[in-house]
Amino acid sequence: MKEWEKNIRRVIPYVPGEQPAVEKMVKLNTNENPYPPAPGVARVLHELNADTLRFYPDPTISLLVEELARFYGLGRDQVFVGVGSDDVLATAFLTFFNSELPVLFPDITYSFYPVWCQLYRIPYKTQPLDENFRIVREDYYRENGGIILANPNAPTSIYEKLELIDDIVSHNKDSIVIVDEAYIDFADGPSAIELIRKHDNLVIVQTFSKARSMAGMRIGYAMGNPELIKALNDVKYSINSYTLNQTAILAGVEAVKDEAYFRENIKRIVDTRERFEESLRALGFSFPKPAANFVFATHREIPAISIFKALRENNIFVRYFDMPRIDNYLRITIGTDEEMDILTSSLRRIIENYK
Ligand SMILES: *Cc1c(COP(=O)(O)O)cnc(C)c1O
Repeated sequence: MKEWEKNIRRVIPYVPGEQPAVEKMVKLNTNENPYPPAPGVARVLHELNADTLRFYPDPTISLLVEELARFYGLGRDQVFVGVGSDDVLATAFLTFFNSELPVLFPDITYSFYPVWCQLYRIPYKTQPLDENFRIVREDYYRENGGIILANPNAPTSIYEKLELIDDIVSHNKDSIVIVDEAYIDFADGPSAIELIRKHDNLVIVQTFSKARSMAGMRIGYAMGNPELIKALNDVKYSINSYTLNQTAILAGVEAVKDEAYFRENIKRIVDTRERFEESLRALGFSFPKPAANFVFATHREIPAISIFKALRENNIFVRYFDMPRIDNYLRITIGTDEEMDILTSSLRRIIENYK
């Protein structure tokens, strides 16, 4: 071993869902939106003047911060914007989870959380979800260095009521609670944004990647009290002042402005999800009530891994996690009606052949 090798920071990285380069595929593995972003986004891209790229973008991202503040009825000092919510979450972990006590999160949740803890050397302790994959609130009543919860949760698609979030935040006045709401717009319950006024230790993180159809543009944001937002900005300016590029800022503003398109985009996906839930049930699958743009399903006879592999052979990509408790489940993103019909026919064939 070379001397310098011991100085390298080692981390087991997060593994993103694959982006296969297959021409005719049905891609339902990374919870992307099957529809394009709001039309104003394409307009901004067409009108892009390359000469303006000489300049650094606005480090305060003020146009987008203002638009988001207006949309959510918050002050400008209550919004922080970053390069996708992964960037915002990483910055939030670094900023808010700075204790000797362990950060708490469920055993089954977004698998990036333990990676950031390892990277930043944050102690953590996972709390098991119950047998129905629900949060056990009492598990979060103990001393901790912070809490992170995804609501709706990934990969289960389960939405927990605001009352539970409120209760957990109320029991943890001495630490910061982050709620990752990447999928909140698909849920049939409210966002925890309304709790920001009540709790000064609550941070909500959302993204443009799912309901706003802009995963490729990389925009995420956090909302919370001005002191927390300032702390996030201080850390951001200590790493990289110019996070969002100027095109992303302008495109993001257009996406937020077009609320009618946003609502319609969400409704289409929720309608397709409801239709797909029926088909899945008829095929012998069961799943927790979904509240996101994906379903977390298990089949009563056929192992998930077999279905996953058979679908792949047909160029249909879904997500499979080889992890304790969830290794017999598939996470299936909601695509267009047509894509879900192709998937349903393929599943029917796979199930018939298995018998
Ligand atoms: C997709 C997702 C994110 C990350 O989204 P980006 O904004 O694309 O970085 C964060 N949290 C959860 C739970 C997600 O599923």
